[in-house]
Amino acid sequence: MKVYKFGGGVIQNSESIRKLAQLIQAEKPGSLVVVVSALGKTTQALEEILQCQVAGQPYAPQLQKLYEFHRHMIDQLLDGLREVAYQMLNAWQDTLLAVMRLPITDVSSDKTYSRIVAEGELLASRLIAYYLQEQQVACTWLDARDYVKTNWGFCHAQVDWATTQRLIQNDFLPLLGQKQVVLTQGFIGSNEKGETTTLGKEGSDFTGAILAAALGAESLTIWKDVPGVMNADPKLFEEATKFSELSYQAMEEMAFYGAKVVHPKTIQPLAAHHIPLYVRPFHDPHERGTVVMNGFAQVEHPIYVLQENQVLVQLSLDDLTFFSEACMQEVVHQLEQQDLRANLMEREAFKLTMCLNNDHYQTKGLAAALGQRFRINAQPQVNLLTVLHGDERLGQAWLAQKEVLLAHQRPDIYQAVFQPDAKA
Ligand code: ASP
Ligand code: MG
Repeated sequence: MKVYKFGGGVIQNSESIRKLAQLIQAEKPGSLVVVVSALGKTTQALEEILQCQVAGQPYAPQLQKLYEFHRHMIDQLLDGLREVAYQMLNAWQDTLLAVMRLPITDVSSDKTYSRIVAEGELLASRLIAYYLQEQQVACTWLDARDYVKTNWGFCHAQVDWATTQRLIQNDFLPLLGQKQVVLTQGFIGSNEKGETTTLGKEGSDFTGAILAAALGAESLTIWKDVPGVMNADPKLFEEATKFSELSYQAMEEMAFYGAKVVHPKTIQPLAAHHIPLYVRPFHDPHERGTVVMNGFAQVEHPIYVLQENQVLVQLSLDDLTFFSEACMQEVVHQLEQQDLRANLMEREAFKLTMCLNNDHYQTKGLAAALGQRFRINAQPQVNLLTVLHGDERLGQAWLAQKEVLLAHQRPDIYQAVFQPDAKA
């Protein structure tokens, strides 16, 4: 059996859901587990709604827009099940409003975050399940929160592998045996208390890998709006080309440096179980895309990764005290606590400089913890360019017109932090 994952980047309108159904119907009954994330930009919209609520600002217009977007989808897709789907959508909105009415404090906002954003995945998957049912596809909808068991990290939970694997095997395998397509959500899970947790932004790829590993799938396919894994974003670099093949290691390295194509946690479980990953173009499903597995040779093109929305953080102590190993240990510990990774890190005598993803929920916690011990100087809204396996002149040429704040050259890796162009 195989696992297919469809993200919000490809399922944006009714046409794409029809296409998704065709891809599913082309497979043998009982041979497919399907993971979907929220439709289009739903997660982002839910995050904005939550931020309005925390800031005490009205969010009704945004919620209405989201409601209309999904209602329009129902109108376009469903026939016999349209009324049932409207009821489902109304109940969805009621649930969301009820969660939003709970008092949100700084401490509990992470928990509320998971509850609210998870609703995007739940709604999308229910809607798709109705459509598949109308298309006579034998399909069972499962709530991923009953299977992906995690710790208490609401925004970036860690998976309890043993329990998760057991639960998945118990329920998914018999359904596949009954020739069902099993449809579930990416990104979401639940903790011991049954409270909703999430696996980190763009975490649906990781769910695909969790399911593939637990079920011993023959492959995981991530359907994307790009031809496959590229060595650079074609919108930014003219000479961008697609890799037909990549090793797990090369893919993981790209993901580590921030290439958005696949979530960084996806590769490890696949590699551990020797499960190939296919990254394939949703809009051109006959194309092969990129296959990621063991045994491919060295990467033959330089790889450019641009990470936007970074924060450049400098930590120092109040007096002329060295930034010691003990200080480093404290920083690393706190990064780990927040499940944050430094995309670049440089220690000098009196300070530590690092570049991090500017994720509000995670950096907030980090600043609170480190602020007790260090002086923090943070420069938000910077970009980070990483060039792997290339000549540093390639990176420097691209950066020629930019204001570079920090640059690093090591064999095979060039990294530069720079100011984004001012918006016109
Ligand atoms: N919908 C979630 C997000 O946008 C998960 C995902 O897309 O993989 O972060
Ligand atoms: Mg998404």
